[in-house]
Amino acid sequence: MEFFSTPDLIEIGGYPFPIQGYKPTREEAVEYYRGVAAQEKLDIRLYERVTDVRGTAGSFTVVTDRNEYRARNVIVSIGFFDEPNLLDVPGEDLPKVTHYYREPYPYVQQKVAVIGARNSAAKAALDCYRHGAEVTLIVRSAALSDKVKYWIKPDLANRIKEGSIRAYFSTTVQEIRSASLVLRTGGGPV
Ligand SMILES: Cc1cc2nc3c(=O)[nH]c(=O)nc-3n(C[C@H](O)[C@H](O)[C@H](O)COP(=O)(O)OP(=O)(O)OC[C@H]3O[C@@H](n4cnc5c(N)ncnc54)[C@H](O)[C@@H]3O)c2cc1C
Repeated sequence: MEFFSTPDLIEIGGYPFPIQGYKPTREEAVEYYRGVAAQEKLDIRLYERVTDVRGTAGSFTVVTDRNEYRARNVIVSIGFFDEPNLLDVPGEDLPKVTHYYREPYPYVQQKVAVIGARNSAAKAALDCYRHGAEVTLIVRSAALSDKVKYWIKPDLANRIKEGSIRAYFSTTVQEIRSASLVLRTGGGPV
């Protein structure tokens, strides 16, 4: 995956972030942040899960699966990417279903349904299409969202228009089966 911003917008601590291209890739960004952390000698405790935070401002106890720490202040920055929005439909737990997109190669010459059409779904659909997958996009709303970045949206819209990516709008998923999906469309089930 690629970052949406140019490197100058995601630089931290005054460290320059030179890259070859226009936008950093995930690997470039992770390597940059790793380098900054090493340079700043940040005290990072990896593979340690916070299970509880107790106390009040000025006197907190942070409990993890390995330790307990005392802190005057706590900043919680646990993001939201760890928690996918589940569809809650039959078949969602089949091994062919993933809630995270990593790379297109498992989907080469495969039929792939991408559910949703915000930025991550749009990028995954385009990436799979450009690596030889037959992609169908399933979208709850009647059109592509305005929240899709301005340089991604026309690419996806044009692929749909020319028929390279098939799209079902105003459609939800009712069931996922081993070799098909049952969709709830405006014109009835498909
Ligand atoms: C494709 C893509 C491109 C993006 N491009 C940009 C961009 O160009 N510019 C920009 O500003 N933003 C961009 N974003 C958004 C940006 O990545 C997020 O806003 C940012 O990562 C949020 O940072 P965070 O630290 O809050 O959470 P995260 O980066 O999600 O990190 C949360 C961390 O907390 C850990 N964690 C969770 N629970 C616990 C626990 N109980 N104990 C210990 N650790 C825990 C998780 O394992 C994770 O490592 C992009 C996102 C995507 C998906």
